[in-house]
Amino acid sequence: MAREPILSPEDGEEPDDRRFRSRVEPEEDRVLRPQRMGDMVGQREVFARLEIALDAARKRRETLGHILFDGPPGLGKTTFATVIPRELGVSLQIASGAAMTAPKDLIPYLTNAEEGSVLFIDEIHRLPKAVEEFLYPAMEDFRIDITLGEGVNARTINMSLRPFTLIGATTRSGLLSAPLRDRFVLREHLDFYTVEELAEIVRRNAGKLGCQIEASATTEIASRSRGTPRLANNRLRWVRDYATSKADGHITLTLAQAALEMQRIDRLGLDGQDRRYLETIIRVFHGGPAGVEAVAHTMNTAPDTLIDEVEPFLLRRGLIVRTPRGRRTTPVSYEHLGFEPGQSGDPQGKLF
Ligand code: ADP
Repeated sequence: MAREPILSPEDGEEPDDRRFRSRVEPEEDRVLRPQRMGDMVGQREVFARLEIALDAARKRRETLGHILFDGPPGLGKTTFATVIPRELGVSLQIASGAAMTAPKDLIPYLTNAEEGSVLFIDEIHRLPKAVEEFLYPAMEDFRIDITLGEGVNARTINMSLRPFTLIGATTRSGLLSAPLRDRFVLREHLDFYTVEELAEIVRRNAGKLGCQIEASATTEIASRSRGTPRLANNRLRWVRDYATSKADGHITLTLAQAALEMQRIDRLGLDGQDRRYLETIIRVFHGGPAGVEAVAHTMNTAPDTLIDEVEPFLLRRGLIVRTPRGRRTTPVSYEHLGFEPGQSGDPQGKLF
């Protein structure tokens, strides 16, 4: 079975494995990702609870309890999962729920786990039921039941594991079964970051990338990053490229605004896809309610992309509401897009 790497893989290792490649971070991402708890900005309440759990585990020389992180993409779930083992001085294995098709895919991770080490399973909601059930005794009693052979010759052996910490990350905690959710000692929800927190991240990361930036440009990038550190980093890189190409590389407010406008990122941080989503509900579905599948079909996009990446921020900013019959736009979205209240349009209009 192809294995996910332990932290930083060596170049050239298993080059043909697509899952592996997707896990190899570009060098710049590695530079920007916080390395220690102290480098992390925001999420103060989560941070405080984790510090206590880490401190207690260290003092008692015990294995840290299992932790579940949930929240929209790009808010720091993987980052927390990678700094925690560093704080504890233990090893980390990284696996993806989407890549586990059967219990046997999980066995090497469990048997390789060193005492007190961390096993991080990203997208844990995508684990098939059989793998999830196989994980229960591993999480609870650090043992697994392995079936050898088939049919009448099948026999089950019970194997004990070294105590380890499972860290799960999910964008959809609602899809986790209650028995799995209950086996996590700490369940932490990561929320969107404030503009001030994102500005701090942009300021620090501009320093790491070796570029000069005006304070007002820092705030501009932060306020157009949809509360998400990953987007703040992406926008910063783009603005840096723009400033290098169009000027001397020094990032001013005017350059930052021009760069973000060129990418069609508006003052709320919405990009073309976000606006197209809102416009589709307004124009095609007359403001809603519209089911997410119908909206996704109309936009020729996967519903999961809308649910995971587009909707959480729009809900948070009050640009849409969820109702039992589907999504509805709000007066805020009409105003933001420059529509008259109640206006809709025919599907042949400028949108398509
Ligand atoms: P997720 O796993 O939730 O999708 P990541 O942990 O991969 O998100 O975060 C994306 C990027 O955002 C990271 O590479 C890191 O550079 C940045 N980031 C996330 N959280 C923080 C934070 N609290 N402080 C500083 N940078 C952060």
